[in-house]
Amino acid sequence: MDNRHVLVVGIDGVRLDLLPELDTPHLDEVARAGFLAPVEIDDATPTMSGPCWTTVVTGVGVAKHGVWGNRLDGNRLDVFPDFTTRLALECGRRTFAVGGWAPLFLARQGGPLFTAPSRLSFIAPREDTPAAWEEADEAVAAEAARVLGSGEELHASFVYLGAVDETAHFLGCGQEYRRSIETADRRLGRIVEAVRERPGRAGERWTFIVVTDHGHREEGGHGGRSERERTAWVAACGPGLPAVPAGATVPAVRHADVAAHVYAALGIVQDPHWTLDGAAFTA
Ligand SMILES: [Zn+2]
Repeated sequence: MDNRHVLVVGIDGVRLDLLPELDTPHLDEVARAGFLAPVEIDDATPTMSGPCWTTVVTGVGVAKHGVWGNRLDGNRLDVFPDFTTRLALECGRRTFAVGGWAPLFLARQGGPLFTAPSRLSFIAPREDTPAAWEEADEAVAAEAARVLGSGEELHASFVYLGAVDETAHFLGCGQEYRRSIETADRRLGRIVEAVRERPGRAGERWTFIVVTDHGHREEGGHGGRSERERTAWVAACGPGLPAVPAGATVPAVRHADVAAHVYAALGIVQDPHWTLDGAAFTA
């Protein structure tokens, strides 16, 4: 069986401009081994989680996938499925999606975004507060580490962490928000460590992608076109992605490139009928 694998970790609502002053060693490690690039959310796309995550995992923009807000009703995911679904249904790969935001995983609010991955785990926060979301993300990280560390064959996975965004909405982009980003980074580290300890890891090739969907205004909140709201980012490392030297210009990246890179990293040539808007990250 093919030994190529991809892990995508999506951390909701992480401002790029704050990263240099925060302690995020695990994100830094991915960036150092590959790159960390800003993503400007295009003018057509509301700077909201629903449309941005849908673009990330389908590889097509809002004009095709039809998700314009945090309700996913009216979407075209039947035509433009997320990569965990397409890989499982059309490409003979095994996939996994886990997280705690309902419309991504459940038939609620017009979802799910992840329609038919091989394995799916949903861990609901007990209430809509930053503390409850931290607990849920902790459980999501534990579940991701358990599943990915087990050695189960999973070629492509998506792990969603939502506490950072929730914290900004409740408390703005102050100290609690910064601590939440650092906590999310520790969870990223736990998941990556579980992959490293997989039985059979020595014979596997892994691509790691870490991505955020949008930024936040200083007081918390997004949906507008200010620079802080429309600036997202992607970090990635893996085969075919040589490290970008410190100080060198990072490649231009769009959200739609993430799904396109997932396919490329697995050695899958896009079917022209998929009409993806993204392209694999350039070396
Ligand atoms: Zn979001």
